[in-house]
Amino acid sequence: MNITKLILAGVFALVATTNTYAESCCDKAKAAGKACEHPCCVKAVADGKVCEKCNPKK
Ligand SMILES: [Zn+2]
Ligand SMILES: [Zn+2]
Repeated sequence: MNITKLILAGVFALVATTNTYAESCCDKAKAAGKACEHPCCVKAVADGKVCEKCNPKK
């Protein structure tokens, strides 16, 4: 019983951490159905680009 709960908690923590780490402010805004409101991102979108400061290439 206890070990199952421990594993579930561990997996959940890992997924939550990964999501937080991978999502940029723009991704979060998109997920919420909005455009990112960061000035640097608004400027990049107006130029037809994605803000590289907040969305660094891997
Ligand atoms: Zn952004
Ligand atoms: Zn930005």
